[in-house]
Amino acid sequence: MANISILGLGAMGQALATRFLQQGHRLTVWNRTPDKAVPLLAKGAREVKSAKDAIAASDVTVMCVLDYAASAAVIDQAASALPGRTLVNLTNGTPAQARAMAERVTGLGAAYLDGGIMATPPMIGGEHALILYSGSKAAFDAHADALKDLGAANYLGTDAGLASLHDLALLSGMYGLFAGFFHASALVDSEGIPAGAFFKLLGPWMTAMMGELPGYAEKIDSGRHDKDVVSNLGMQAASLDNILTATREQGVATDLLDPMLDLFRKRDSAGFGHEDISGIFELIRRKSGK
Ligand code: NDP
Repeated sequence: MANISILGLGAMGQALATRFLQQGHRLTVWNRTPDKAVPLLAKGAREVKSAKDAIAASDVTVMCVLDYAASAAVIDQAASALPGRTLVNLTNGTPAQARAMAERVTGLGAAYLDGGIMATPPMIGGEHALILYSGSKAAFDAHADALKDLGAANYLGTDAGLASLHDLALLSGMYGLFAGFFHASALVDSEGIPAGAFFKLLGPWMTAMMGELPGYAEKIDSGRHDKDVVSNLGMQAASLDNILTATREQGVATDLLDPMLDLFRKRDSAGFGHEDISGIFELIRRKSGK
C-alpha cells in the first residue's frame, strides 16, 4: 500500500480520497477550507494544516483543484516541499497550462505527471472510469498501481500537455454530439413532441451514424476526401440548408448548426462540392507552419 497525499477535497478530490482509502492506502489530505476533510477523517485519512505538509508527507501527491490558477496558488504555498517528490495534477486545464506547470514543478525538483479525468466523481474506481496521463514516464511507472485504483490509466507520452489535449478533444466530441441532440429535440418540441419519446428514434439513428466516423477518420488522415463518396458535400449543404430553413419556420433558433452550414458552403464554393463532408476538416485544422 502506498503513502499518498491529496490536495483539494471538492467533489472530485473527495471521490479520489475515498477510493484510495477503500483500497487501503495511507492517505494524507489538505483542502483550503478545512471542514471538507471531516468525512474522510472518520474513514482513516490524516489531515494536515498546509499543502506543504501534505506534499512532505508522501512520495506522491495528487492535486485536484478547480483550475490552474488554483493549482498555481497551491504550488506557491508549497514549493519548498517539492524537491524529490512526485506531483500528479488532475486539475482540468489546457495543454499550454499543463506544459507550463510541468516546467515549473520540475524546475522545483519534483517529477510531474498531468492527468485528465474522464469520469464523474461517482464513477471513480468503477469499471467506466478512465484517467489520461502524460508527463514523467518514470513517475507514471512508479505509481501506476495506485493510480489504477482510481480507474483505467492511459499514459499518452512525456509531453505533459498530451493528457489535456486528449481530454479536451474527447469532450469536444461529446459536446458536438450533445449539440445535435439539443437541436433535434428543439425541432420536434416545436410541435409538442417530447424529447424522451423522440429519443426512441434519435438514439438508434445517432448510433448508426457513429459508424460513418471511422471512414471520415481515414479520409482525414489520407487527405483524400474524394474517395468512395456516396453523400457528397454539395448535396449535404442543400440538406443542411433545408434543416435550417425548417428550423426557422418552426420558430426554433439555428445557433447550434449555423457554423456547420457556413463551413459546408465555404468548402462547396471552393470547388469541393463533389467530395465528402470530411473535407471541412481542411478548413478548421491548424495550418502548417503555425
Ligand atoms: P469543486 O468545485 O467541487 O471543488 C473545487 C476545489 O478546488 C475545492 O477543493 C476548492 O477548495 C479548491 N480550490 C478552488 N480555488 C482554490 C484556490 N485558489 N486554492 C486552493 N484550492 C482551491 O470542483 P471538483 O472537485 O468537481 O473539480 C476539481 C477538478 O476536477 C476540476 O479541475 C474539474 O474540472 C475536474 N473534474 C471534475 C469532474 C466532475 O464531474 N466534478 C469531472 C472531471 C474532472 P475550497 O473547498 O476551499 O473551495
